[in-house]
Parts: sequence; C-alpha cells; structure tokens
Amino acid sequence: MQDLKLYNTLTKKKEVFSPLTEGKVGMYVCGPTVYGDAHLGHARPGITFDVVFRYMQHLGYKTRYVRNITDVGHLVNDADEGEDKIAKKARLDQLEPMEVVAYYTRSYHRDMALLNTLPPSIEPTATGHIIEQIQMVEKIINNGYAYEVNGSVYFDVMKYNAKHAYGKLSGRNIEDMISNTRELDGQSEKRNSVDFALWKKATKEHIMKWSSPWSEGFPGWHLECSAMSTKYLGTRFDIHGGGLDLVFPHHEAEIAQSCSSDGQESVNYWMHNNMITINGQKMGKSLGNFITLGQFFTGEHDKLDKSYNPMTIRFFILQAHYRSTVDFSNGALQAAEKGLTKLLSALETLEGVQVSENSTFNVDDYKKKFYDAINDDFNTPILIAHLFDAVKQINSIAVGKATIDKSSKEALTHLMNNFCFDILGLKKVSTETQDGLTDEVMEVVLSLRKIAKENKDWTTADFIRDELSKLNITVKDSKEGMSWEKQ
Ligand code: ZN
Repeated sequence: MQDLKLYNTLTKKKEVFSPLTEGKVGMYVCGPTVYGDAHLGHARPGITFDVVFRYMQHLGYKTRYVRNITDVGHLVNDADEGEDKIAKKARLDQLEPMEVVAYYTRSYHRDMALLNTLPPSIEPTATGHIIEQIQMVEKIINNGYAYEVNGSVYFDVMKYNAKHAYGKLSGRNIEDMISNTRELDGQSEKRNSVDFALWKKATKEHIMKWSSPWSEGFPGWHLECSAMSTKYLGTRFDIHGGGLDLVFPHHEAEIAQSCSSDGQESVNYWMHNNMITINGQKMGKSLGNFITLGQFFTGEHDKLDKSYNPMTIRFFILQAHYRSTVDFSNGALQAAEKGLTKLLSALETLEGVQVSENSTFNVDDYKKKFYDAINDDFNTPILIAHLFDAVKQINSIAVGKATIDKSSKEALTHLMNNFCFDILGLKKVSTETQDGLTDEVMEVVLSLRKIAKENKDWTTADFIRDELSKLNITVKDSKEGMSWEKQ
C-alpha cells in the first residue's frame, strides 16, 4: 500500500493517511447551492475531490463519496438573515423553488459530467433530510448547547467555547469573532452575535418551510452537512472536503454541531481547495468576469477569446496544486490546451513505437516519481511535470534517439494510462469525426441521456437513443458508461 500524505486543515500538517476502517474510506464534500449555473468556483472542488475519490479507489479502498445538494437554508448574505437564495431566484424567475432546484441540479450534473468527474456515491439534498436535521437540533438542545427564542433555535457558541475550542479549524479566536460580527440593528434574538441558527422560524412570505417542535420554519445552512454526513458516514468518518471559503463559519459550525450532538468530532482529515481568480481578480457578477462553465465550453462571453474543451479546464485546474490559488486567463488556458494535446498525442505515439531488444527507459523510476508526487498531498503539478518528462522520452524513442523493450513498453503504457485517465481523470479530446459530427456534441447528448436515466426519466432517455438510431448512431450502455458508434 502506498503511503499517502494529506494536509489536514485542522492540524495544519501533512499527515500519513490511515483510514478509520481498514480498506474503506468515507468522504463528505460540500456541494453546490443550486440557484444558478455552475462556474469555475464549482469546477475546482468538483475536480479536486474527484481526483481524491479516483485515487482512493485506485489504492483499493472501498470509497463512499457523499456530496450534498443545498436546496434550502442558504440565505443570501450567508448568515442568518435575509431571503433564501433559492426562494429569491424562484421569485425573480416566477418559478416554484423546486423548479429552480431541478433545473440547476441538472445543469450542474451536465457540467460535472463534461469535466469527467465521477458522480458521488450518494448525493443527498437538504430538503430530503429535514427529519434528520430536526433530530440533530433536538439532541443539541438536550445536551445544553442550543436555545429557542420565538420559534427559532440558535447554537450557543459561548457555552460551547467554554468547553471546546470554537475557531480551531479557522484559527480564529472568539473575541475577534465577537468584535467582527456585531449585529447591525441591535434587534437580534441571539444571545450573542457569534451564535448561529440551527432552525429559523419562517416569516409569512417565506415559501420553503416545514413543521418542527419549535415553529413552521427551515433548517440553518450549516446543519444539513452535519446531519447528512452522520447519516451516511457515521459519527466519525475519514475526510471532509470543500472550498477554503467554507472553513468559516460553515465547517467551524459543523465541528461544533457534531461535538455537541454526538460528543465527538466527526472528521479525521479536513481538506480544502483554494480559490480561483480571473485575470487576477476575484470572480463576481459586479466585475463582469463571472463566467459560467457553459460559457467556457461555448466561448460565449466577452472575456473569452474562444471556446474551451472541458478537458482543457480540467487539465488547467490540475496544473496547480489544490491548495494554491489558480488564476484563469485566456493565455493560461491556451497554454494548458497545448500541453494537454502534447500529453495525449504522446500516448498515441507510445502505442505505435517500435520495440527494441534493449531499453534506455526505466519505467520503475517514473512509476516511483509519479506515486511520490500524488502521495505528497495530491501534488498534481509535480506529477504533471514528471508526465512531461516521460513524454519527452517517448518522443525520443519515436525518432530513434532512445529505445524501449517490449515489456517496458507495456508497463509504461499501463502506467501512463493509469495516471492520465484513471487517476487524473483526463479523456482523449478529438475535435471532429469523418461525418462532421463533433465528439463533444455527442458527449453532451450522451450526458443528457445519462442525466435522464439518473432521474429515472426513461421517456427522455429512450427518445434520445431512438432519435440517434434514426441517424444510424448506436448508443451502447456498459459498466464503464455510455459509448456511441456510427454505422
Ligand atoms: Zn457543507
């Protein structure tokens, strides 16, 4: 077994990964709040934790990857006041909140499939787990760490902090938090400004609400992740992931919730991916640099010179270590596009190289370098640098400047395919087929069919298959997924 080291945000150290249960890994990652199209900020955790998921499986761990869909409780200002993000979008678009949720969940799935991320093992929704959340609030109240005011329930941070360290994940101390979170209007029901809502009583206008022992209301945003991770991974599990922007207050609150309901911290390793900037600026609607993944794939945005293949986006993200920031620009993306083409064409070159009696190529050296890089807290940029060293060698063999024997060629092909396709999750990119149909278009069509099947929408799935068959295209379903063939 490989010695995998992970940087734990909690201990701020790289630690050798050791699963809580032999042979098994449980991983929870905070998923999207589905009220808009996915953008680069979603692609990064999507890809980062996809590589973790893929590598854990590569190492032979039976891995349960849980990623939630937030469909209630995330308020517009990320705190405990204001409108629900989904309800607001529904009001603006004159839709039912669940229409907003269904639409953007499908759009998110489509984009994640195009980026070749594997679907999580379980994808629970907050609205599907109201009972579990209410039960958790009851436990926290019974243990004395929460209080009710006018039908809302708040977590008592000061009481919790007297026994446990609130702020240990983010490295903040309570005095600073108090001075940074003074209520603006002084009207708050909270005992202390640092307290956060576990349950909120709904106002008359609030559409998404459920009955509870305290009021008709809705759960606080932080609660769903604690309730759903406990339900599917138990009171203690291996890895919790998410973006760095979630460390405070979201993950800090999760630690407090599990400690106060189950008496122990639930997470063994906390992993956080860093943020993405665009041309050196934070992404934001007001800055005009808010580019959705769909816009990257079509090129339809003022800031984009051209369209980019999802694999270019994936490769670009992997060229940076997940804990470093990434800055997107057209130049950087085009460089990534070239690099990816070079890497993938070397794999084709390798298939065709002539073998010799002797080999100047030592596959074991490369194998060690590849594993050392990925085992060092998923150091994908170093891994990619080593892959390019191998590319150089492959190209030398192709022009007769170096040699490789039969068994080394087989071993190298296996190794390169393992790392490029199975672990990094890259895919061959071909632009046009003989019929003038692009593979990318077929990929979109097949992704739509996949989503339809996942939603048990057999009518749509069959419609896509039947219409394609009229064009003499056969869709094949297999364990690995879907493929297509033109007769
Ligand atoms: Zn979460």
